[in-house]
Amino acid sequence: MPYRAPADEIRFILDHVVKFNDVTATDRFAEATPETVGAILSEAAKLSDGVLAPLQRGGDTHGAVLEDGIVRTAPGFAQAYARIAEGGWIGIAGDPAHGGMGLPFTLAAAVNDMVSGALLSLGLNPLLTQGQIEALEVHASEEMKALYLPKLISGAWTGTMNLTEPQAGSDVGALSTRAAANGDGTFAITGQKIFISWGDHDFGGNICHLVLARLAGAPGGTKGISLFMVPKLIPDADGNPGARNALRVVSLEHKLGLHASPTCVMAFDGATGWLVGEVNRGMAAMFTMMNNARLQVGVQGIGVAEAAFQHALAFAMERKQGRTPVAGGGTIVDHADVRRMLIEMQAEIFAARAIALDCAMSIDMQTATGDPDWGARAALLTPVAKAYGTDVGIKVADLGIQVHGGMGYVEETGAAQFLRDVRVTSIYEGTNGIHAMDLVSRKMMDGGEAAFRMFDEGEKEAELARAVLPDLADTVWSAAETLRETVEWLVEQDMQERYAGAVPFLKASARVLGAFFHLKAACSEGGTGPRTALARYYIERLLPEYAVLITQARAGAAGLYALGPGDLAR
Ligand SMILES: Cc1cc2nc3c(=O)[nH]c(=O)nc-3n(C[C@H](O)[C@H](O)[C@H](O)COP(=O)(O)OP(=O)(O)OC[C@H]3O[C@@H](n4cnc5c(N)ncnc54)[C@H](O)[C@@H]3O)c2cc1C
Repeated sequence: MPYRAPADEIRFILDHVVKFNDVTATDRFAEATPETVGAILSEAAKLSDGVLAPLQRGGDTHGAVLEDGIVRTAPGFAQAYARIAEGGWIGIAGDPAHGGMGLPFTLAAAVNDMVSGALLSLGLNPLLTQGQIEALEVHASEEMKALYLPKLISGAWTGTMNLTEPQAGSDVGALSTRAAANGDGTFAITGQKIFISWGDHDFGGNICHLVLARLAGAPGGTKGISLFMVPKLIPDADGNPGARNALRVVSLEHKLGLHASPTCVMAFDGATGWLVGEVNRGMAAMFTMMNNARLQVGVQGIGVAEAAFQHALAFAMERKQGRTPVAGGGTIVDHADVRRMLIEMQAEIFAARAIALDCAMSIDMQTATGDPDWGARAALLTPVAKAYGTDVGIKVADLGIQVHGGMGYVEETGAAQFLRDVRVTSIYEGTNGIHAMDLVSRKMMDGGEAAFRMFDEGEKEAELARAVLPDLADTVWSAAETLRETVEWLVEQDMQERYAGAVPFLKASARVLGAFFHLKAACSEGGTGPRTALARYYIERLLPEYAVLITQARAGAAGLYALGPGDLAR
């Protein structure tokens, strides 16, 4: 069965589960009428199903290749990219002053969900450009905005982000790329960056690299990093791509998956760059780009999970094996364990999608209202949406292989590709472990206030749900209370203790948040029907994991350091 973008499911979540109506009720997003939202979702679904999904297998087998220093993309990719650009999809949330549609970021996330399910490797390209657009909108000079934003928003030019170096991955502050003032307002950028997604391609236009580098005499660590725009082709006086800049692709990484997305080793040999924002404030500027990209990487995981789920369900409905215990088509979908896997896949996807869209909606509300509580909510949800969305992508793709049996392990069914492709999403844009640490440290600097507000909201929903589904509502309410107590305990601990339990704490938080949203979906159909059955599955069988996870979260650091590297090596 070919991929079918989940436009209706996304619409359901927007209309009934997360408060997207609050977003569209603001003056800032008044243009996002129900008709516009419907048109965006259905057009994005058509693009995903008809143009992108058919390139999925060919992209994997052909991959991107480096020929004479130029990246050649897989057949059909340049044309598909042109369709994304022509459709205006890159500027969906961009500033109308520069050609964007000015629509809610939530819709950009919804489109990314569908595009990622169809063709993750290509979808990563516009995602990076969107992040760059945001960073420039907030931090660039008016002159730079006028030159770059219309080109990036139209998709004529693409954007990359250059942080990682061999010795500077999670620890970006360790980077050694240098910047030196040229005396004419430009800077010479010298150094090597690795793992640069879409560092080059054959789509035409220009490639705009946002590069982190250190000026001579700047402080060490992240406090001495500045951000530079370093285009592949230096724009001429009319703003058209001109002379080649002193940068090149040294090689492409050979990877587990995502073969059609070129991952480049880049050399900057005194390349001309322009400062973005203030000297030594590059991390702040890059964070603007990374914050939404983080949520969008979580959404990538959800998109791939959706595709893997659809693929597995179609297989299970055709494959006959053994006598099934219930009357049905006699295919493996009727075996209890296969049914368990499929329901679990769908329950996880729903929870992760609702959390991600709720996070996106919070970002929009902050944009529209300027209310810091919405900002704090978005900040709190971002690491959860990133890590849980990508964990779900990996888990669901893995279950998808299991549903296929041996055919999942051979490449021709395509089940394995989902897992190979999605695996990186828990690593790039900050590893999930780093995001969990962010959740228990920076995101708890308010003493847990933002988290407590979310629990209040969830508990209020659970109280309302008591009239419809009392047993499920009670379970969810109790889980929220236990998590609240865990946050109260957490904020009293020193960082070492918090970090030791950060990953289980993040997972427990996702479990409880997912339960809030499942309960709401069940109530929206009056407590009977497939959404209620799915909610019951999640709340009765998956939610209880939070108790174990909280125990792990509170177990502390001493037990981890009791085993030294020497002991492990035994
Ligand atoms: C396919 C692909 C595409 C990418 N695209 C880009 C791109 O476009 N631009 C870009 O700049 N980068 C890109 N990256 C790089 C990516 O962001 C990094 O790989 C990632 O941030 C992790 O850094 P690292 O690989 O150096 O791992 P390391 O930082 O060495 O981490 C190794 C392990 O140690 C853990 N760890 C590290 N530090 C800590 C700590 N302080 N506390 C606890 N645990 C820690 C990590 O969680 C991880 O498990 C890409 C990577 C890949 C694989």
